[in-house]
Amino acid sequence: MDDLKVGVRNKRGDWAPNASVEVAPFWAWPLHPAKVLRWLPGYFWPWNAFHLATALLYWRFVIPAPEAMKTLAWGWALWLYAVNALSIFVMYGSIELFYYVKRKQGTRFKFNGKFPADNPSDVFWFRNQNIDNFLRSFLISIPLWTLVEVLLLWCFATGSVVWLGWADHPVYLALLVLIAPAIHELHFFIIHRTIHWGPLYRWVHSVHHNSINPSPWSSLSMHPVEAFLYHAVAFWHLVIFSNPIVALFQLHLAGFGALNGHIGFDKLELTDEAALDSHAYAHYLHHKYFEVNYGGDGLIPLDKWFGTWHDGTKEGDARMQARFEKKRARLNAKRAGAGA
Ligand SMILES: [Zn+2]
Ligand SMILES: [Zn+2]
Repeated sequence: MDDLKVGVRNKRGDWAPNASVEVAPFWAWPLHPAKVLRWLPGYFWPWNAFHLATALLYWRFVIPAPEAMKTLAWGWALWLYAVNALSIFVMYGSIELFYYVKRKQGTRFKFNGKFPADNPSDVFWFRNQNIDNFLRSFLISIPLWTLVEVLLLWCFATGSVVWLGWADHPVYLALLVLIAPAIHELHFFIIHRTIHWGPLYRWVHSVHHNSINPSPWSSLSMHPVEAFLYHAVAFWHLVIFSNPIVALFQLHLAGFGALNGHIGFDKLELTDEAALDSHAYAHYLHHKYFEVNYGGDGLIPLDKWFGTWHDGTKEGDARMQARFEKKRARLNAKRAGAGA
C-alpha cells in the first residue's frame, strides 16, 4: 500500500497522516446524524467487539465457577494469571513478531521511522526497550491486572456487591456494555492526568514514558502504582450495580486495549488491499510530546475541554507550542520571583 497517498514522510523518515484525529462526532453541534452513523461501525468493529468476545470467552472457558471463587486461593489466581499472560503473549507478541521483528510492512504507515530495537538506551533494563517493556509487562502489570480481576470476581461471588442478572436487566446491562469504553476513557484520563503531576510523574509514570517510540510491548510497561490504578477501572462495576461479565469486559478494555495506543503504525496491512486501523495516533503524540492527549482518541473529548488536545495538524501543533511557551514563561517568572 502507498502510505504517501494518505500521509507525508519527513526527512527523518517519520510518517504522519494527512487526516486529523477527530473526536467522536456526537459532541459536535449541530449534530450530523450521517457522520454519527458513519462513525458507529468503527466504534464496535473490530477492537471493542474483540474485547467483548474475549470477555465472553473468558466467562465461558476460563473463569472458575462462582462457588470456587468465594474463597481467595492461589490456585485460581495463578490460573487467571497464566491465561492473561498467555493471551497477551499471543496478541501483543504476534504484532511485535510480524511488524517489529520480521518488519513485514517496513516503515509504511509507521509514525516513527526508527525501530526501538535499533536504539539501545540506558533508561531501559539491559539497555533494551523490548526486553525492559516485556519484563515489566509480565512481572508487574499482568500480575496486578490479575489481582484486580481476582478481587473483582471474589466480590461478585461472595455477594458483597450487587450482581444483576441478564434476564432481569437486559437493557441496563447492554447500555453498560455500550458505555464501558467511555468509562475507560474517563478513568484513564483522571489517573493519567494525575500521574503527570511532577512528583508523581518522576516516581511513577516516567517508567511508561521511557518508551518515546512505543511498540506493543510498551503498552503495559508501567510502574506498579500505575499498573494497579490503570486496571482498577474495573472496580467501577463494584459500585454502579453491574454484572461480572460486563466488569470483565471493562477489564479487558484496559488490559488488551492498552495495545492500541502503542502499535506505532497508523494501519496494519493485512493484505494488499485490506488494513486494520490502529487508532494509535493520538496516544503516539502523547508519547512524543508528553503533555498532550492524556485521554484516548476523543470518545469523550476531555483533552479538548482542558485545552490539551493535539489532533495531529499544524494548528494542533501551534496550539501546543503556544501552551508550552506560556508554561515556560510562568516557570521563569516563578524562578525570577524566588531569586529576588
Ligand atoms: Zn502509553
Ligand atoms: Zn503519560
